[in-house]
Order: sequence, then C-alpha cells, then structure tokens
Amino acid sequence: MALIDKVPGELKLHIGGLFTLRRKEALKEANITHVLSVLRFTPDEKLFNSFRHMVVEVDDVEDENLLQHFPSTNNFIQDGLDGGGGVLVHCAMGKSRSATVVIAFLMAKYHISPSEALAQLRQARPMCEPNSGFMEQLSIYYQMQTPENVEENPVYQRWVYQREVELSRACGQAPEAEKIRFEDEHADSQKQADFELRCRKCRRTLAMSQFLVDHKPRTFQSDQTEIQTPPAGASLCAHYFVDPLSWMRPELEQGKLDGRLECPKCKTNVGKYAWQGMKCSCNEWVVPAISISKSRIDEVKSRTGVGADVAGIRRPPAALASPNRGPGTQNL
Ligand SMILES: [Zn+2]
Ligand SMILES: [Zn+2]
Repeated sequence: MALIDKVPGELKLHIGGLFTLRRKEALKEANITHVLSVLRFTPDEKLFNSFRHMVVEVDDVEDENLLQHFPSTNNFIQDGLDGGGGVLVHCAMGKSRSATVVIAFLMAKYHISPSEALAQLRQARPMCEPNSGFMEQLSIYYQMQTPENVEENPVYQRWVYQREVELSRACGQAPEAEKIRFEDEHADSQKQADFELRCRKCRRTLAMSQFLVDHKPRTFQSDQTEIQTPPAGASLCAHYFVDPLSWMRPELEQGKLDGRLECPKCKTNVGKYAWQGMKCSCNEWVVPAISISKSRIDEVKSRTGVGADVAGIRRPPAALASPNRGPGTQNL
C-alpha cells in the first residue's frame, strides 16, 4: 500500500494517513499545497509550514458529527484544486475519517451516491471504509442533495434531534425542552396531508398524516426469531405513532420520561408518550413513542387534500390504506 494515494480521476486529490506527512518527497512529487487533517490530535505544526492547512477535530467514532463539516471541507478541497496544486486529506490511518471527507467531496462534485464515491476511492485505496455512523451521515448528505448550508436543512435538523433523543435516552432522561423538535412548526406548508386524525369527541385536529411515524408490525417482519403466533388481534396496531406536535408542548416540555396526552380542546385522554419507547399492540417497539389511540380519533380526509367538498366526511377504513403503509393500518 502506498502511503499516499491519488483519488482516481482528473483531480489532484490525495488521501493518506498520519505517516504520509513525514514523506516529504512524496508530498513534493504530488505537488501538495493544501493539507486537510481530519483528526483530533494535531501533529507537529512545523510539518504544515509549507502548506495551507485545515484541521477538523473529530474522532473516528460513529456518533461524531462529521456531516456538519462537509460544506467547509468541500470548499477547502476545491480551493486547493482551483489553485492548481494537489490536496491531501488525511486522518490517522487514511481509512475512515479522511475517506468520509473525500467521499462527501466527490458526491457534491459529481452528484454521485456514497457507494459510488466509495467504490471510486477504493480503486486507489482498498482499505477505505468509513465507520457505520459516517456512512449514515453520507447517505443523509446525499438525501439532502449535498447543500452548501447543511445546518439549516430540515433533514439535518431532524437528524440532530433524533441524535439528541437517542443521547438522552441512553442517560435515562427525557430530552431537554428546547431540544424537542415540534415537527409541525417546521413543516413545509406546500406539503399536503392526505388525511388527518381528529379527536373523536370534539373534532379538534390532532395530527396530519405527514406527521405519522411508520413502524412495521412485528408479526409481519421476516426476522425468524420474532415469528410467533400472536394472540388474536395482536397484529393490529391500536395506535398511531406521531412526531412531537406543538399542541403537546405543555406536556412534553415538563421533562417527564413518559405520560399521557390530552386533547388540547376537550381534555379527553387521546394518547400517551414514552421517550424510552413503548410496545405497540402489534408487539413492535417504537422508540421514542408518541402514540394516539385509534379508538379516540377519527381519520378524516384532509381539507388541504383533494378539495373542500370532502372536508369532514369520514372515510371507510379500507379507503385509508395506501400501499406504503403498514398492513396494520388497514384495521381500525
Ligand atoms: Zn403496531
Ligand atoms: Zn377533543
């Protein structure tokens, strides 16, 4: 294995590990002008005297947020290439962190997927293998279409919120009030709901269909270990699981691990929540879980949907099932 590898293609982009920095001849040969260090430990500064140098201080661990740095690392790499010299991206081994940064650059530049970029990189350096957390971040970056502003992207913000919930869950705590993302306060108003869930008693709209969290009923999963004969009716989901919504704010901001949800208008008990998750009646765990009981709501075709003439008309249950929803949703 070479200590410094050139990414296949037209670019003077190179990848390596820590030892690459000591190979002065190789760096000179590759006409390196820019060095991007992706590691927390900063090697001897003197090594970088003759280069433009950028450091991204991250560890090679799955929960490190490297995604937030992609726009700035991409800019640094592009600046170096525009200047006509070579760019070296390195971490400790030239395996995970540096590979992730190079892949993000290739994705943004060529509009290719993470796996395509990784395959291209591996032609030169077969050992490249971003850790699974970084691979996930790359696919989120791809899903976001490699924007120049990552942090204002709703997909990114949602991911940050989910990490936050996961972190507090690991500590056995509810997420901090200001960290809870009430999805309907960030919603794209252009996006139309198919149907909404209304309080059966007072008709107050409790959730629009785009805020439903899907889960696969456990008895329909192929995992061998989980196949068991469910009690009659156990395959039915008795709940809808939803994102945090602004009407839940007074309850969710109390910092409790779990509790009940009342309709904000008529105060009927309509559901419950548990940050550490709960088991649906279909046996599947949903984490975190904010549930609305199907027996307390009616599904109503959305007013913003197909037209005002259908507003308020309760649809027969069968008509509500769309192909991408779990089988359990057909059973009310
Ligand atoms: Zn279920
Ligand atoms: Zn109500």
